[in-house]
Amino acid sequence: MTTTVLVYYDMGMLGHNPHGWDPSHPDWTDAVKAMIGLQYPNSNLETYSHPERPDRVTAIVDRLLLEPIEGVRWLLPTAASTTQLKQVHDADYVAYIESLEGQSCWLAEDTTAVSPESVAAARLAAGSGISALEAITAGEAQRAFCIVRPPGHHAHHHRASGFCLYNNLAVTAAHARHVLGYQRVMIWDWDMHHGNGTQSIFYHDPAVLVVDSHCAAPFYPGTGLQAETGDRAGIGYQLNVPLPLGSGNGALLDLFEGLVKPAARAFLPDLLLISSGFDCHYLDMTCSMDETGFAALTQGMCALADELCEGRLVMLLEGGYNAEALAASAHAVIKVLAGNSPGPLNILPEDPGCVAVAEAVRHWSGRF
Ligand SMILES: [Zn+2]
Repeated sequence: MTTTVLVYYDMGMLGHNPHGWDPSHPDWTDAVKAMIGLQYPNSNLETYSHPERPDRVTAIVDRLLLEPIEGVRWLLPTAASTTQLKQVHDADYVAYIESLEGQSCWLAEDTTAVSPESVAAARLAAGSGISALEAITAGEAQRAFCIVRPPGHHAHHHRASGFCLYNNLAVTAAHARHVLGYQRVMIWDWDMHHGNGTQSIFYHDPAVLVVDSHCAAPFYPGTGLQAETGDRAGIGYQLNVPLPLGSGNGALLDLFEGLVKPAARAFLPDLLLISSGFDCHYLDMTCSMDETGFAALTQGMCALADELCEGRLVMLLEGGYNAEALAASAHAVIKVLAGNSPGPLNILPEDPGCVAVAEAVRHWSGRF
């Protein structure tokens, strides 16, 4: 049966187009080359351009237009207001980002940067999840996918990092909690990188349960240890699952069955949010997932949302730097959101992530 899926996108987010290098910071350039060389040993640094580039999202949009999915409703997001951003970010930080409008510069040595139209793009990205949630709360649909950039999950309340300016998903969760009256929000961040910004923002908050699966440190950003579980009232509400390089569909599906599902049933969220990076796709060179795995995970999350929170599920794009992987993965995910079967699943004969997931499931088995 076809299900309505709200898909949010605004071409204004293409205006964010930072340079590959910052000539005024040759030291940063060296640091970036070292980082990229470590994580992507086969990359050609001479032809390097900024990986967080507009064609990441045009590839997704083009695929959805070329192969339309029944049930998709395209919508324009409303840019986040300053008040909405300040639910998560410090007032000084929001003022600082806003002051960068019209400029090109780097904000951090990990290549987080802005171009003249980045601030407007960041407001649209941060407002997309809110727009989706407002529509879902009004009963227009149950599921939404937000095609956004810049991404958000590395943005802290007071600083930009990892290509992220505002934490789009955290702004959505805060709006859910403080404006729309949701009681318990559950997040799964399946981006390949640890969502260190999201973790820091909700680290003390028992009303927001975060499951974060990612490549283990020292992979960027180097955080997300299993021992990082929250602080004060938030202890036990941050579930980090560090994975080895090469992890594939089987590991992530084991994680869904063994941890995400029981944790959700214990926590009883009234809203599910997914930080949906697609950089675990094998075409991104570090992990071994593919679009059939993302589709299967999405089917599981839809079923969980139907069981626990009247179907409410909002997905926001995070990372993913290979245009083909992004297009195939987002299309497969949105197809499942629209009520289609995920189809056959590709499973590696030996998935290096399965052992780490089994250990994580054992670690938390007493809690859920
Ligand atoms: Zn990522």
